[in-house]
Amino acid sequence: MKGLAVNNLSVTVNGREIICNLSLSFLDNQIYALIGRNGSGKSTLLNAIMGAPGYQITSGNIRLDDQDITSMPTGERAQLGLFLAMQYPVEIVGISYADFLCTTLTKLHNRKPNMTKVLEELRTNARRLNFPNFDYSRDVNVGFSGGEKKKSEIMQMLAIKPRFAFLDEPDSGLDAASVRKLSTILRSLDYPTTIVIVSHNEQLVNNLHPSTIYDMEQLS
Ligand code: ADP
Ligand code: MG
Repeated sequence: MKGLAVNNLSVTVNGREIICNLSLSFLDNQIYALIGRNGSGKSTLLNAIMGAPGYQITSGNIRLDDQDITSMPTGERAQLGLFLAMQYPVEIVGISYADFLCTTLTKLHNRKPNMTKVLEELRTNARRLNFPNFDYSRDVNVGFSGGEKKKSEIMQMLAIKPRFAFLDEPDSGLDAASVRKLSTILRSLDYPTTIVIVSHNEQLVNNLHPSTIYDMEQLS
């Protein structure tokens, strides 16, 4: 199958099974919503797909274009085009946003990016996201407000242009105007991508016209 397939996946965190025998798939150039009550395992699924530490896959597999990536290191998954905007973005003390992006893009594409162009695009996207005070010389997310951290994650996605973008509650903490801007941006991406959005905001989900809405409670 072309795309990303999760087959009969079971995931354990800290010795507790969170996801049991779950299967779903994501095709290219589609928008998906992943919904379900708090604690139903949405973030766990996205972290398991990215290979985040602490998420043990006890059975099943994850395949990208028929390649088994279940045990692949996170960095290699990112090189294959997977990206996660985290529910709780982390602060990285001592690393500026510009340096972070330069290193990330270099690792992903095995060559140095044109940083003048990257930073220009970054400034444009900050404005589009109602984040006019964004300063890329600041440490990544350090001292950012909750909403600013979420915008920072979206700006990373817009810079990286991943094939699969997993967005874990990207609207949480955003003011209403910023949620509308986010919706417009996600609907008008000018490169091929699949978006998988986790959100409790029905209006945002409906505005994005997802091809499929996966409900965690009905999946496992
Ligand atoms: P959702 O994103 O759908 O709200 P999560 O995937 O974050 O849900 O969490 C699913 C369940 O796993 C929750 O009951 C949560 O408390 C539990 N969980 C997540 N991480 C841990 C952990 N480190 N230790 C124990 N339980 C955890
Ligand atoms: Mg979550």
